[in-house]
Amino acid sequence: MTDKYASDLLQVFVFDGAPVRGEIVNIRDSWQAILARKNYPPAVKKLLGDLVAAGVLLSGTLKFKGSMIIQAQGNGPVRLLVLECKDNLVIRATAKLNEEMDLSNLPDDSGLADLINPDGNGKLVITLDPADRQPGQNPYQGIVALHDGQQPVQTIAQAIALYMRDSEQLETRLWLASDDHACGGLLLQKLPNMGGQLKMDDELAAEGWARLQMLSDTVTDEELLGLEPKVLMKRLYLDESTHHGVRSFDQRPIQFGCRCSRIKVADMLKMLGENEVQSILDEKSVVETNCDFCGQIYIFDAVDCKQIFSSPTLTDAIKQPPQSKH
Ligand SMILES: [Zn+2]
Repeated sequence: MTDKYASDLLQVFVFDGAPVRGEIVNIRDSWQAILARKNYPPAVKKLLGDLVAAGVLLSGTLKFKGSMIIQAQGNGPVRLLVLECKDNLVIRATAKLNEEMDLSNLPDDSGLADLINPDGNGKLVITLDPADRQPGQNPYQGIVALHDGQQPVQTIAQAIALYMRDSEQLETRLWLASDDHACGGLLLQKLPNMGGQLKMDDELAAEGWARLQMLSDTVTDEELLGLEPKVLMKRLYLDESTHHGVRSFDQRPIQFGCRCSRIKVADMLKMLGENEVQSILDEKSVVETNCDFCGQIYIFDAVDCKQIFSSPTLTDAIKQPPQSKH
């Protein structure tokens, strides 16, 4: 496959003709890394791709140093979707399927409501974990029920827009697309019509917001998936930039990255308790676990496990991390 365009980029821009900011994202290599060694049904893959694109767009709107975690939780064929995005746009994501259900006949066009929210009790949990969080300080958490009044929420775009409306009081629209190769998205956000020099006639501001939504509504999945964000921005808002002006910032790179480590797995084993770990060893001779996000395999034999429970600190027990990969 030849790479015809630059991907894994986030483009942020603002409009002079209305108090509106925009963002376009296209993620290809990092999306491939998220899907590597996973075999999700097509509908689940698509929903996770939408969440990944939406999460990076949302992260781009936040003035915040640390990690943002979006979880979609529910009782359908999919139990949980998780996306983590750090302020430097390092991302990882995973889906947990309902193991009690046979998903082999899941229709490819199943959406958020079918997969996560069949009973309307699903929710979206957004956690902001600041980089400088003090011990004892809790991360900020916002929860959105996946229904708007009586209507179940149908798409990730709608869920994120609800979150922005309820938690930030900002009107936001998202357009998302994903397939096996890439995921992409466009976000428009109506900013408060500030006083001072930037203050705009309210009617003009409302007109601008409507006009920009109309221009954005023309975006196609093919454009979101196959164009560099800067190129798509120019194409969509050509008319707007002729009359008013569109100011764009530098494109920001997006990267896949995982935070898993042998020490974290050892920590988990320690919490599991010596008896439980011993019973796994008795049965399988080693404790083997692989990371949900990146697929990294961690193996602990009897000697490793003994060290975990006898050393005063885990750093002593895990001096030489012999990382293994299949
Ligand atoms: Zn990992």
